Amino acid sequence: MSTIAANLQAVEATIAAAAQAAGRRRSSIQLLAVSKTFPMEHVLEAIAAGQRAFGENYLQEAVEKIAAVARAQPAQAGEGIEWHFIGPIQSNKTRPIALNFAWVHTVERLKIAQRLSEQRPPELGPLNVCLQVNISGEATKSGAMPHELPELARQVAALPNLRLRGLMAIPEAQTDPQRQRAAFARLRVLADKLRGNGLAIDTLSMGMSGDMAAAIAEGATIVRVGSAIFGARQYD
Ligand SMILES: *Cc1c(COP(=O)(O)O)cnc(C)c1O
Repeated sequence: MSTIAANLQAVEATIAAAAQAAGRRRSSIQLLAVSKTFPMEHVLEAIAAGQRAFGENYLQEAVEKIAAVARAQPAQAGEGIEWHFIGPIQSNKTRPIALNFAWVHTVERLKIAQRLSEQRPPELGPLNVCLQVNISGEATKSGAMPHELPELARQVAALPNLRLRGLMAIPEAQTDPQRQRAAFARLRVLADKLRGNGLAIDTLSMGMSGDMAAAIAEGATIVRVGSAIFGARQYD
């Protein structure tokens, strides 16, 4: 078995154990394999091991990798492979995102959402969108502030070629599981409030290699896992 296949098995075991501990179904949690900085061959290894959803941060790298994977994949195996954009979005770079991805996790401004909606070809179906939230309140971190969410979510949900799915956050790194959980719980409460406002959202994108169990305990529906699957990155 390849290292990537073995790593995927280990991550799967962590997710399954965390789901069981939380009394949740395994099927309520999607594993997004974050392949940023890794070559197409590593993605193909993960696909061979059964992985289908991949996250990328850097647009140029991602667009090339998506095309290369599509060329390398026999038609039937390429079916069902889903690409999620999880990096910072520059407003002049929205078109390739709207064309190449099924999901975007990092929308934090209405202007970006409007451009993505205008540039999404309707025949591809709606682009699934999460609003990124600055959950730890750090001045340098990206994401909308919690108080901005109700209005932003209402406006994004009304855009024709997007489907608002939920919230995403990258909390300040913590090693203490209780502190990890506290930040994820804040995101869960914010999503509950939006649902209380009548928005039909179903996604909490939270948890990475170092804190996926805590995120699942607080309701994560997508965990974004990179290094635990593909190994340490050379650059980031
Ligand atoms: C890189 C990255 C990840 C994966 O991080 P790991 O610690 O390697 O699991 C998840 N989410 C985002 C937004 C990232 O940029």
